[in-house]
Amino acid sequence: MSSFSSSPSSSPSQSSTTVVINNNNNNNETTLSSYVTNILLPKQPLLHERIRNLKNGKINNNGKCIMYVMLNTLRAHDNPALETSIQLSNALNLPLLVLTILNDKWKHSTERKFNFILEAMKSVSNELKNTQNIPLTINIQCKTKTYKPWHLTLGSRGAAAIVVDEPYTEPYISIANQIKRVVAPSILVDNACILTPQLVRNFRAIDRPYKFMNSTKIQRNKRLLWTLKQNKLKDSLKQKSLELYQKELPFDPVNLNNNTMTIDYILKHLVTSIDYNVCKILTTKGDSKSGYKRWNIFMKKGLKSYDKKRNNVLEHYNFGVSRMSCYLNLGIVSPFKMMKSIFNENVKNEKFFHEFLCFRELSYCYCFYYPNHLILQDILPSWAYNTLGKHTVDERPKIYTLDELKEYKTNDLLWNLCQQSLVETGELHNNLRMPWGKQLLIWTETAEDAYEYMLYLNDHFALDGMAPPSYHGIGWCLGLYDSPKNESKIFGRVRYKSTTSKSKYLNVGKYKQQILMRSSNHGKRKFIGMFFNNNNKSNENSGDSGSRNSSDDGDNHTTNNNNNVRLKKRKKQDITSFFNQR
Ligand SMILES: Cc1cc2nc3c(=O)[nH]c(=O)nc-3n(C[C@H](O)[C@H](O)[C@H](O)COP(=O)(O)OP(=O)(O)OC[C@H]3O[C@@H](n4cnc5c(N)ncnc54)[C@H](O)[C@@H]3O)c2cc1C
Repeated sequence: MSSFSSSPSSSPSQSSTTVVINNNNNNNETTLSSYVTNILLPKQPLLHERIRNLKNGKINNNGKCIMYVMLNTLRAHDNPALETSIQLSNALNLPLLVLTILNDKWKHSTERKFNFILEAMKSVSNELKNTQNIPLTINIQCKTKTYKPWHLTLGSRGAAAIVVDEPYTEPYISIANQIKRVVAPSILVDNACILTPQLVRNFRAIDRPYKFMNSTKIQRNKRLLWTLKQNKLKDSLKQKSLELYQKELPFDPVNLNNNTMTIDYILKHLVTSIDYNVCKILTTKGDSKSGYKRWNIFMKKGLKSYDKKRNNVLEHYNFGVSRMSCYLNLGIVSPFKMMKSIFNENVKNEKFFHEFLCFRELSYCYCFYYPNHLILQDILPSWAYNTLGKHTVDERPKIYTLDELKEYKTNDLLWNLCQQSLVETGELHNNLRMPWGKQLLIWTETAEDAYEYMLYLNDHFALDGMAPPSYHGIGWCLGLYDSPKNESKIFGRVRYKSTTSKSKYLNVGKYKQQILMRSSNHGKRKFIGMFFNNNNKSNENSGDSGSRNSSDDGDNHTTNNNNNVRLKKRKKQDITSFFNQR
């Protein structure tokens, strides 16, 4: 584990972590906040500045463990929340319980998303065990195992103090809010950004990306430098107390390394409320090894030419872009490690820094300062909200239902292909996301409807959905970060862009071919095509049997026959019944 814990002013060789071991556990009067601030982390500003109170209060002397609730940082390296938890656990001489949760009632619970998350959980479970000898406690909340929120029971009855990943988006915000109500005090730790959002004090006054970039440059560069130095540090954290608190758990945690409890078993028999129609993407595995493999190949083959190729949709799978968003959004790979590797390899590309450090971190600030980001009125600048409202009366050429959109049954070929790409590959190229989103304004009665549909279509199908970049990107389509433009129909003074205008600059035929290729490579086209479109002919023409399951990064995965079984079971059912079942 690389460390965030040394003082930035000390040289790497001099630095050491300050861990106060309190064998007596005598913290009667100590609040978690003052303990962390004054005793545990005073010389560790890099770690300290990422922490904020969720619920301050006295450390629970009856507590039997420190509990780290791992939400959106599914990795055991470069993880400031885990580092804080280990230090607390060492200092208070209490075992550390690392708990992660999956609940099949969460919005947009799909086979695609759950498979990816479970693969990530399996990977972090092995990493935790191998590097820190800490077991990962996985609590799957579902009908078959009861929906009991054990994290809350443990928070009130087992934990002395709780550490939680800074949540940013749903369902994690709700989980953090629940944890606020339990007995033990709790803190939140940001693991996602180089410049942690709480340091961007005047964010609400920052309404444009370039303003954000310039006003945070000095702070960010300073931290970037520190992050790079940390690479040379030798980890000095030691987990002192490893009694397995797991023995006393009030529920059976899921062991993903058990031969009977496979991910397939969980998907089929435990989390039965998920949408199976949105099936797994076999070429993007959720473990961190696959994530870093994709990153390393991109660094070698794509990073240098990123500025030139990033807007070329046809270079999507040819290292034009990194395709790292799904790994970054769940914290499966570390943004700190990615930055370090760029500097180590000495292949820099300013444009990539710009996207990665500024636009990405802007989105985290956005979700941090606007926790109500799912409500349009709360996020749009008033000029944008008002102008869109004023143009609600404008006649729309056609209103599509959500089902028609999901099934990409519009009269716009490029939009259909974008949606097909989301549905069948779980990805949509950055350069098409904006026109794809803006087009929905033309096909819905109000901006609220357009926002709701965009959120649904993105979050339900995109493997990188439900993350800060999702919501700031979607808001952007409707005027966020923009300035008023000349008045046009439907859009009012919001910048006009549509798939029709985009198709003039894109070889749509080649794009279609790319999607068909990717879809067949995923071994899924036939399955999904039965329900969503009638392009099976093109699939047959592509000469691909649809059964190849190898990953992009050269890994071979076992053939999955389950889809065929499901296909047989479901082919007579009407598509709408699938979507209505949730
Ligand atoms: C309507 C709309 C919806 C979007 N939905 C999502 C989403 O669900 N999830 C998601 O991660 N991104 C979303 N984005 C932002 C952006 O399109 C993706 O981050 C990018 O396409 C991811 O591909 P990549 O990893 O190959 O990016 P690269 O071009 O290789 O960039 C590297 C990393 O930088 C970050 N990044 C790049 N562009 C942006 C950006 N515009 N905003 C914020 N961060 C950025 C991402 O973390 C990305 O992985 C959306 C944008 C729009 C306009």
